[in-house]
Order: sequence, then structure tokens, then C-alpha cells
Amino acid sequence: MAITATEQLGPQDSKWIGEYRDVHMNVFGTPLRVMDHGKGAHIWDVDGNEYLDFLGGIAVNALGYAHPAWVKAVSEQAAKVAHTSNYFATQPQIELAAELVKLAGAPEGSHVYFGNSGAEGNEAALKLAKLYGRTLHGALPDLGGKPARILALTHGFHGRTLGALSATWKPVIRKPFEPLVPGIEFVEAGNIQAMRDAFAATGKGEYGKGPVAAVIMELIQGEAGVRPLGADYVRQVRELTRKHNALLIIDEVQTGIGRTGKWFAFQREDLSGGIVPDAVTFAKGVAGGFPMGGLIAFGSKLSGLFTPGSHGSTFAGNPLGAAAALATLKTIQDENLLQNAEQRGEQLREGLLKTGNPLYVSTRGRGLLDAVELAHPCSHALANWALERGLIVNAVAPDALRFAPPLIVTEQDVDQLIAVLAQAPTDLKND
Ligand SMILES: *Cc1c(COP(=O)(O)O)cnc(C)c1O
Repeated sequence: MAITATEQLGPQDSKWIGEYRDVHMNVFGTPLRVMDHGKGAHIWDVDGNEYLDFLGGIAVNALGYAHPAWVKAVSEQAAKVAHTSNYFATQPQIELAAELVKLAGAPEGSHVYFGNSGAEGNEAALKLAKLYGRTLHGALPDLGGKPARILALTHGFHGRTLGALSATWKPVIRKPFEPLVPGIEFVEAGNIQAMRDAFAATGKGEYGKGPVAAVIMELIQGEAGVRPLGADYVRQVRELTRKHNALLIIDEVQTGIGRTGKWFAFQREDLSGGIVPDAVTFAKGVAGGFPMGGLIAFGSKLSGLFTPGSHGSTFAGNPLGAAAALATLKTIQDENLLQNAEQRGEQLREGLLKTGNPLYVSTRGRGLLDAVELAHPCSHALANWALERGLIVNAVAPDALRFAPPLIVTEQDVDQLIAVLAQAPTDLKND
């Protein structure tokens, strides 16, 4: 987001933003503010200005800032052991893996791999899919087979590392780095015939392509503007993957860990059609602000394809992150935050439309992963206008604002968001 009114920055913000630019590569653009500390859903910048945060560090700060349970868990773990290497394990890591398998309702024999980000969760999933692809009959070269393929969706986002980027659609962020990982194809999101055609392209010898090892997709395409794929479509993709022995990998990096009102979005019938995936990736909210991500592979057969040396990371399963995640998951349960996400999300979506401000055309999303469609493409101007009034929202697309606040937001917080956005001028400048 570009700053439209730099002169409105306080003296400390201006100073630190200047210094930021002197020493950082410019991959994120100029920071909007330099933040100092937070409490609950509120955060203060270095000039002491307060903001109500409806972005939550992009769906990360599930418990808001400085939640006492999170601070206690991380502090206590820091005082015990912060890192061990994977020659050793720690109790928090073991408990966390068990808890995630349980919350996902994954079958007996399901296993977890930990990484440090969403991209790393997806890298692990793609590597697992490659190993799986090698077990498919049509992929055996001796029998005239071809390497198995992975299908990703248009508008999908899976991360910026080279593997995850190969499955990420947005041309402006992908094209400059081509050629990327071969064997990953894009299929039009929401078009079941296109998916059927992609599966039907499988063939032997000179004819057709290799079999499909996996389909990877989000159930709500977050970076694309909070766009649910539709339960019917997802159910039909699941049928196709079953029929053709392909894996279905659901990227729940943004939708997972209570964000949509269930632990995982695939547990929402109205998003998934009730399907069960073969693997789920997670990150963002899982450790409430500590960098952590990973993969849950459903069932022992798939999990068992990874053997010592297949994959790894120095920090994988880090005890500080695991302690942060256990505290996050427990607090979500203790404070009924799944229910809060569901209710506050409804309040937000309905309340925005009821303002009568003609800027707000429609809303979409589930739980506390939501967007409002704007009457004209002015989302950056609107987000900046809101920021100057102490409200953090995200211009996810030129014609849409995204909301992904902490799961602890209250009814009053949502009312405050609506009261501010109700006042938005209708003649804001287009992006
Ligand atoms: C944010 C995101 C990622 C990438 O996560 P990082 O932690 O930034 O690597 C992957 N998939 C989805 C759906 C995301 O929203």
C-alpha cells in the first residue's frame, strides 16, 4: 500500500520509516507505520497513535497482542529451552502434533511435519505429492509412463519459495522467476469441466501427459480477495481425485486454526461439501504470532512416504513455537473463539451492508476471514483513509477490503469498525 499522506506521519514514524528504507530491500513497499506494542485487538505506533487492528498481522494474531496465556507460555518455554535441533525432541512439539491431528479429525496413523511458514508447509506437501506420484502406475517409465503432475488453481496462492511459487497463480509474482518447478499446471478455479479435462489429459507413450499426483487448493482463496470456491465444486474435485487415485491437498494456511469458525475450513460443509482431504497445510494463525507452519498427512500410508532425509529444516518443531501454538489452541478452546469468529463475522458482514453507504456492494467470507466488495476500485485509498482514523484494514484487491482480525475481537470492536467505515466518502480515488 502506498502512503497517500506522508505529511500526516508523526515525527517518530517518519524517522524510523526513513531508516527502514535505508537498510531493507524493497520487497514490501514502504511500511505504513512503525509499530511499538499492542494489547488485545489494539496496537500503538512509535508516535503513540492507537489502531484497532482488523488485519491481525494477516490472519496471524489469533489471540491479538500480548495475550496473557500466550506471553506466559512463551516466557516459560524461553526460560527452559528455546531450540534443540531435530536430533532431539521436546514435549511441546509432541503434544502439538497430537493436538493438530486431533483437531483436524485426521484418521489413525496421520502424521505431522513442522516447518516455519506457510510456504514451507506447502513445500513439504508438494514434495510428498512428488513421492506419491512416483507410486502411480501411469508414472512408471518402464511401462511407458510419464512423470506425475500436480494441479493448482488459477488465482490460488501458496507462497513465495520456488516450489510454492510454482503453484501460485498470480502472473506478476510468478513469471519473473520462470522456469519454475516443472509438472505443475494451472486449472481454472471453479470450472469442474476444466478439472475433468486436466485429469483426462493423462496418457501413455506419445499420447497425453502423466497421471495426476495431487490437486492443491485453498477452500477460500484468500490473497485472491477472499473468494470461496464453492462446496459443490470442491466435492466434485474430491470425486475426481478419488477416481484417479490423486491426492487432494487443502492449503489451510489462511483459513485454518479457527479462522472460519471451525478448526479447519474443510470441516465447514458450506465450504467443502463435507469432504475429507489427504493432506492439510497450516501456518499463519497456528502459533498466534510465532513463525510456524506445517503439514498434516492423513493416514499412515501417505505419511509413511517421508523417511529420514526426505525433508527437514533446522528450526522445524521449535519448542518456543510449539509452546506458543499450544497456548493459542488452548485459548481458542477456553475462550470459545470458534463461536466468536462465527458470530463476529456475521455481525461484520451484515453490519457493513446495513450502513447504507453505497460504497459497500456485497460481502463474502466465513467466520473472521471476510471481504467487502466496493462499488469502485478504491481499496487502497479507503484503507489509507481508515488508517488515518485509527483502523487497520487491508486492500486485498482493487475493489475489495479484507478483514482478518484477531479471533478475540468483541462485539464493540466490530461495531467500532462499522461506525468508522460507515463514514467513508464515496468519492475516494481509484487505485
Ligand atoms: C500466506 C499464505 C501462504 C504463505 O505463507 P507464508 O507464511 O507467507 O510463507 C500460503 N498459502 C496461503 C493460502 C496463504 O494465505
